[in-house]
Amino acid sequence: MTGRYGDLEKRLKPSLVRRMEPLSEHSTFRIGGPAALMCLPERLEEVAIILKWATEEAVSWIALGNGSNIVFPDAGFSGIIVKIRGNMIAPKTLWDVRQTDERIHAGAGVSLARLARFSASAGLSGVEFATGIPGVVGGSIHGNAGAHGSQIGDRIEYIEGVRAPDQVVRIPAGHAGFGYRKTEIDTQTVITGAMFVLTPDRPEAIRDRIRAYTEYRKSTQPSADQSAGCIFKNPPGDSAGRLIDRAGCKGLCVGGAFVSDQHANFIVNRGGGTSADVRTLIETIRRRVLHDSGIELETEVRLLETEAP
Ligand SMILES: Cc1cc2nc3c(=O)[nH]c(=O)nc-3n(C[C@H](O)[C@H](O)[C@H](O)COP(=O)(O)OP(=O)(O)OC[C@H]3O[C@@H](n4cnc5c(N)ncnc54)[C@H](O)[C@@H]3O)c2cc1C
Repeated sequence: MTGRYGDLEKRLKPSLVRRMEPLSEHSTFRIGGPAALMCLPERLEEVAIILKWATEEAVSWIALGNGSNIVFPDAGFSGIIVKIRGNMIAPKTLWDVRQTDERIHAGAGVSLARLARFSASAGLSGVEFATGIPGVVGGSIHGNAGAHGSQIGDRIEYIEGVRAPDQVVRIPAGHAGFGYRKTEIDTQTVITGAMFVLTPDRPEAIRDRIRAYTEYRKSTQPSADQSAGCIFKNPPGDSAGRLIDRAGCKGLCVGGAFVSDQHANFIVNRGGGTSADVRTLIETIRRRVLHDSGIELETEVRLLETEAP
């Protein structure tokens, strides 16, 4: 417990802090070098301790959920990764889920799959679209994850968080700036939970929809492969996958990264792929699509820099 982070390590349980943690193990892409420090807070108070310390010491940090929408740098990250993700429902933690009437409160670390299952059992509909999106509540709110014509922001009443250094905030959905795969929640805020407002329905009907969405996903996406989902946002009125396919990019590869044959908007790490491979492939696709259709694609995934933000 020495060096730059020794003081922070003393303020948290040892199990919540890891030095030089390989980020490839925290990304669905399986890509990325080590983080100087990874903190795995279980409670809101621990998030506040981390952000206060980082602010006072001018150490950069980013929040992380399940790492399914981010490309980590090969050289790793020089600051703190604040990872919020739990594997089980646990009361009073950042992965607690509770129902009150037609509302469900979920901690930021709850997976969308668990949230969908929980809401089905409670006979509450509105988040089953999220089945198969491999994110957690915090990361998915940050990017307003969506599928099948719905997005997570549609069902949120308010978001809870900690704004650096240690201010506990509650953001009404109307102030979160939900848009297509984005919010305007400021970058100094770590989302810690949210209240969802849902619609009563029969559990069996909700489960039927979950099954149908799962089947559809299996038949249209390389879900079992190492990827970060869709790389580019859909441009207005069009589909990025269609444009990439039309530009002849399916099957294109750089090093260990290639453009999926099944879904052109997915880049897959077929083993040994690096962040540099993915970035080169992204630029190649962007150039080809611009040349072919005159449309400049915008990335949906976050491309993290070693020294960011
Ligand atoms: C196979 C596959 C299928 C996918 N399908 C879909 C889909 O249908 N629809 C869709 O929208 N996405 C999809 N994705 C992308 C991804 O799963 C979603 O964007 C998901 O919501 C990201 O959640 P996460 O927890 O993994 O976020 P992360 O990747 O961990 O983080 C994403 C961003 O959110 C920020 N962040 C994370 N946690 C917090 C927090 N607590 N507070 C503040 N900021 C935070 C991070 O800094 C980062 O900028 C898919 C990905 C894969 C691999």
